[in-house]
Amino acid sequence: MSYLSKLTRSIIPYTAGEQPQDMQYVKINTNENPYPPCPKVRKILDTFNEDKLKLYPDPNNTELANALAKKHGVSFENIFIGNGSDEVLALCFPTFFDQNGAFLAYADITYSFYKVWAKMFGINSKIIPLTDDFKIDIEEYKNLDDSVKGIIICNPNAPTSLGLGRLDLLEVIQANPDKIIIVDEAYADFSTNSIAGFVKDYKNLLVVRTFSKSYSLANIRCGYAIGDEELISGLKTIKNSFNSYTVNSLTEKIAIAALEDNKYFAENIDKITTQREDTADALRELGFEVLESASNFLFAKHNKMAASEVYYRLKENGVLVRHFKSPRIDNYVRITIGTKEQMNILIKKLKLILDN
Ligand code: PMP
Repeated sequence: MSYLSKLTRSIIPYTAGEQPQDMQYVKINTNENPYPPCPKVRKILDTFNEDKLKLYPDPNNTELANALAKKHGVSFENIFIGNGSDEVLALCFPTFFDQNGAFLAYADITYSFYKVWAKMFGINSKIIPLTDDFKIDIEEYKNLDDSVKGIIICNPNAPTSLGLGRLDLLEVIQANPDKIIIVDEAYADFSTNSIAGFVKDYKNLLVVRTFSKSYSLANIRCGYAIGDEELISGLKTIKNSFNSYTVNSLTEKIAIAALEDNKYFAENIDKITTQREDTADALRELGFEVLESASNFLFAKHNKMAASEVYYRLKENGVLVRHFKSPRIDNYVRITIGTKEQMNILIKKLKLILDN
């Protein structure tokens, strides 16, 4: 006999990247942004009226929703805000799919939370393998039958870092007018492939984005979806059946401040994408095969040393990267792009490890 449900006893939760407390690491394992959020955020923290904390926040986060609507050229009714894009994505599952009903399609190698949410909400998954070189074969997504009700595509994909071109994605959306297409754009600001500008044209498109990566705000827990009014109102129905107040007022104010500073945002992205290319080159010189990244991280394997060894030896040397013990990718490490100094340490330590 157990007090726990069958689900609790059988589900394997998502494993988040290590957040070690034992020592100071060069922490490049969870795709956080190494730079601080824009200076306006400091002002919000200095001037936030604590008296507000005694009241519940605005359940609709109206001010932030309006700011996001303006940014994306849509209306308030086209924006759904949640506690990180993880929450927004999780809520998509029961909003658009029935328990034990039609299938949700996604890649075999992608954000590993999708399969956890599918299990959590009892939704059937149709797994579509990536090609041998980890690409999405769009033909596979253009000929799905009626047993599939929707598709989730992570673009750029995680953990591979590869981006799918906008035209390819549009082909998938156009080929599936009866299926919902959810695009997880957690890393899209580090490339030019965002499809967010097309939500007005396609009623079946839902784009999910986050403040965690490109805005350096992983800790405030804020993500959002942009889509047709019917999709957004569905998400609100499910959210309000779960928790009315998912995003607090301080988070909301900070997110609005971050949206206002376009110059800081652009400089932040530029520093990371430049550093990404420099680091990829340096890794290639050390014998790594590095996939062409469209994100703020690199996915790489060494031609001699196993990824598990690269991971452990870097950790011993105070550098934390991510290694997934999953089929097809267990010989790769995922490396978040940090500051120039952090990347220099990474390369220096790798040289040391590979020479010994
Ligand atoms: N999607 C992908 C692909 C991610 O890697 C992450 C971060 N782990 C998320 C969504 C969720 O990010 P957040 O909840 O911080 O917005």
